[in-house]
Amino acid sequence: MSNSVYSFFHSVEQSFDKAAKFTKWDKGLLEQIKACNSVYSMRFPVKMDDGRIEVIEAYRVQHSQHKSPCKGGIRFSDEVNQDEVMALASLMTYKCAIVNVPFGGGKGGIKINPKKYSAYELEKITRRYTSELVKKNFIGPGIDVPAPDYGTGEREMAWIVDTYSSLKPGDIDAAGCVTGKPISQGGVRGRKEATGLGVFFGIREVCNMPEIMAKVGLTTGVENKTVVVQGLGNVGYHSAKFFREAGAKVVAIAEFEGAVYNKDGINEEELFAHRKATGSILNFPGCTNLAKNTDALELACDILIPAALENVINHENAGRVQAKIIGEAANGPLTPEADEILAAKGIVVVPDMYLNAGGVTVSYFEWLKNLSHVRYGRMEKRFTENMNTHIVSQIEEVSGKKISDAERKIILHGPEEVDLVHSGLEETMIAATREIMDIWKNNADIPDMRTAAYVNAINKVATSYNELGIFP
Ligand code: NAD
Repeated sequence: MSNSVYSFFHSVEQSFDKAAKFTKWDKGLLEQIKACNSVYSMRFPVKMDDGRIEVIEAYRVQHSQHKSPCKGGIRFSDEVNQDEVMALASLMTYKCAIVNVPFGGGKGGIKINPKKYSAYELEKITRRYTSELVKKNFIGPGIDVPAPDYGTGEREMAWIVDTYSSLKPGDIDAAGCVTGKPISQGGVRGRKEATGLGVFFGIREVCNMPEIMAKVGLTTGVENKTVVVQGLGNVGYHSAKFFREAGAKVVAIAEFEGAVYNKDGINEEELFAHRKATGSILNFPGCTNLAKNTDALELACDILIPAALENVINHENAGRVQAKIIGEAANGPLTPEADEILAAKGIVVVPDMYLNAGGVTVSYFEWLKNLSHVRYGRMEKRFTENMNTHIVSQIEEVSGKKISDAERKIILHGPEEVDLVHSGLEETMIAATREIMDIWKNNADIPDMRTAAYVNAINKVATSYNELGIFP
C-alpha cells in the first residue's frame, strides 16, 4: 500500500459501494468483485549504462479473472505504487464490462521516470520486467495482456512481445501477449485515434438522445454545437478533429502554456502545426488568447472535453463551469466534490470509465487479429468490391442512368482494416452509451451517469460470476 493517507483503491471502492446499493447482489459476491485477485509486487536488478546496479520496483495486478485474459496497461512513472496499480486494475474490470470487452481487469507499473533513463536502459528494464511476468505466469495471450499506458508506447510493447516470444518458442499466439504494438509487430490500424474517436462516438450518442438534450436545454445532434477541448495531445487532438469533421465548432482549445478562442471554430490540425512551428498554441491567427489556460474550462459552451490531466475541475472552479455536457476524455478530470456541484447545476457528466474506453476496445480488436492470424478486411475486401460493382452496373442498366465517379468510389469501396476497426468501435460506444442511459432512466434514485455506469459494470461482472457457478 502507498504510505500516503489517501488511497486511490479505497476511493474506487467507495464509488463501487455507492452504486452497489442500486443492485440486488449478495454482499459476499460484491466483496469478491471489489477485491484484487492477484497482486504481484517485484524487485529486480538492472545494470545501468554507467555500470551501476539499480533495484527496480514494479507491479502487476490482476483484479478479476471472471473473464480471461486480464487486460490493462503498463505505466512507467515515479508515482507508481501498489495502491495505485490495484485501483487502476479494478477500474479496468469495470471499464471492460461496460464496453462488453470480454476481459478481466489488470494493470502494471514500474516505478521509474522514463525521462531519466537511456533507451537502452529502458529496453533492459522492460525486457527484464517481461521475463519476471513470464516466470510467474503473469503474462500470455490467454492469461494477462498488457498495453501502453502513461510513459509507455509502441516501442515498449514491441520489446515485450519480442521477449515473450523468445521465452515461449513455438507459441503460435505469442503476438497476442500484449496490445498497442507497432503494425509490423502485429498491431492494428486505427489504434492511435481510437480513444478520441470513442469519445466522439459516445458524446454524439448522448447528443442524439432527445430526453437528455431537453434536460440540458439543447437541440439534438452534434452539428453546430460549441465545443471546448483541454489538452491537444493524442486524445484531445483526435476528439477535436472528429467533432469538427461532424460539423461542431471547437471554439476553444487549452494547452499547458495557455488557451485560444475563436467563436467561429478552430482547426486543430492547423493549431497543432502552429504549435510545432512556434512552440505554443498562443497567437494563433484568427484566435484570441485567454488570460489563463484554465479560463477555457469556464467558457460558455455546449460540450466541454477535458483531455489532459486529473482533478482539473474541482470544488474551486466547478461552480463557474458553464458547459451543458462534460465528456471525461481524460482519466479522473473531475473530483467527487466537482461531481456533486455539477450535478446540482444540471450538467450531464459523461464518465471516463466508459467514455475513454476506445483504447481498450481497439486493443481487443488487435488481440482478436493476433489470434486469428489475419488482417481485418483481407478476406472480404475484394469480394465486397466485386459484388458492389455488379450491383451498381445492374442498377445502371435497369435505370439507364450513370452514377458519378465520386459516388462510384464510395459505393464500391470494400472494407479496409481501419474501416472495420472504426465501425466496431462505433458500435461498441453506441451500445455502451444506451445501456448506461437505460439504467439511469429506469431508476430515478441513481444520481448521475457515473453511478449508472458502475451499476452496469457490477451487474455484468456479478452475472458472470453467478454463471460460473462460484456462488451457487
Ligand atoms: P498526451 O500526453 O498525448 O496529451 C496530454 C496533453 O495535455 C499534452 O499535450 C499536455 O501538454 C496537455 N496538458 C498538460 N497540462 C495541461 C494543462 N494544465 N492544461 C491544458 N493542457 C495540458 O496524453 P493522452 O494520451 O492524450 O491522454 C490524455 C488523458 O486521457 C490522460 O488522462 C490519459 O490517462 C487519458 N486516456 C488516454 C488514453 C489513450 O489512448 N491515449 C486512453 C484512455 C485515457
